[in-house]
Amino acid sequence: MGGKTNTGIIMNSRNKLLKIYNGRVITPYRLIENGAILIENGKIVSVNAGDINCSGAQTIDAQNNYVSPGFIDIHTHGGGGHDFMDGTVEAFLGAAKMHALHGTTALVPTTLTAETVDLLQTFSVYNQAKNLNIDGAQFLGLHLEGPYFAMSQKGAQDPRYIRKPKKVEYEAILSHSQDIIRWSAAPELEGAFEFGREMSNRGILPAIGHTDATSDEVAEALENGFTHLTHLYSGMSGVMRRNAFRFAGVIESAFLFDQLTVEIIADGIHLPPSLLQLIYKQKGPSRIALITDSMRAAGLGSGESILGGLKDGMKVVVEDGVAKLLDRTAFAGSVATADLLVRNMMKLAGVPLLHAIQMITTTPAQICRIENRKGSLTTGKDADIVIFDDNILVKTTIINGRVVANKL
Ligand SMILES: [Zn+2]
Repeated sequence: MGGKTNTGIIMNSRNKLLKIYNGRVITPYRLIENGAILIENGKIVSVNAGDINCSGAQTIDAQNNYVSPGFIDIHTHGGGGHDFMDGTVEAFLGAAKMHALHGTTALVPTTLTAETVDLLQTFSVYNQAKNLNIDGAQFLGLHLEGPYFAMSQKGAQDPRYIRKPKKVEYEAILSHSQDIIRWSAAPELEGAFEFGREMSNRGILPAIGHTDATSDEVAEALENGFTHLTHLYSGMSGVMRRNAFRFAGVIESAFLFDQLTVEIIADGIHLPPSLLQLIYKQKGPSRIALITDSMRAAGLGSGESILGGLKDGMKVVVEDGVAKLLDRTAFAGSVATADLLVRNMMKLAGVPLLHAIQMITTTPAQICRIENRKGSLTTGKDADIVIFDDNILVKTTIINGRVVANKL
């Protein structure tokens, strides 16, 4: 749109205007050199090539840095010393704030397999925290990771609580919260297809995760509502042999079924550059979401930490840029932040900037079915914006038009 005069915009105390100018603006369609964005009352009202004449607006000179949609992390357990299962509002707010400083403007707090009482406590704390979260990445809703998983693919999930899906049980869990938007489960378990249909009917994203399914079982899962794959390559089957016959596993299914969206922990450690390249080559940027899957030590340094809630979490050690079980036989979550994921996709996997950004903005928004509100810089969208330099170091984070961090 032209937007040169913006005569339709009337200034008064309620119409809060913010202009970002002199930036390299990333839209879903192109990179606008020397672009500008006008925000009114938390929404984007104009995206322009060149400056926008607008008196009375608060302004940010982007200083030729990139101006991007805010990052959307659809799978994270915490950060900044906090886990979303700590049972406190402070943990939610603290993790959200830390991630916002790294460019994340919206995230999906994720629970670990735990006792039902701890899940219910997390629901009630989430409910309080969402209204108090002013300076942190917004909460999009909860992701339940477990407990309906294959024991053989439990990873760092607590085996005491892993079980088959039972309708009466998950209906009871859902009755305690309106905030669940995503639930990961193993589709080969008895009752899992019914679970997938039920989640899909309720508008909750059923995701395939921690699973030993064959490709036939994945196909049937897709026929029963599952559409998304939780952390591709982590906690899932590859080609398997049964009595000399080979079967494709979940990993092959990710590449076999184009429609299946995937998420990847692009911390540079869970997946080596070759696998990042393979996934990108085969799935493309419209089917991949970059996730941190971060645990509480994200944004902190190395040393001992706790995976899961403070009360009954598991001792782990953070070293070499990743959390590990104490015996170092498996990773126990990442310590990544979203800016690192983008940097890794570009530097380790050779992905162009606009595709790397798509995988942490538009694609996760589409997977969560919020692309009409978030994930791109076009008029009418929520003003969730991050400004960063050529090294993807974050300068400014804006959430719903509010500047929550600014180093410019
Ligand atoms: Zn996780």
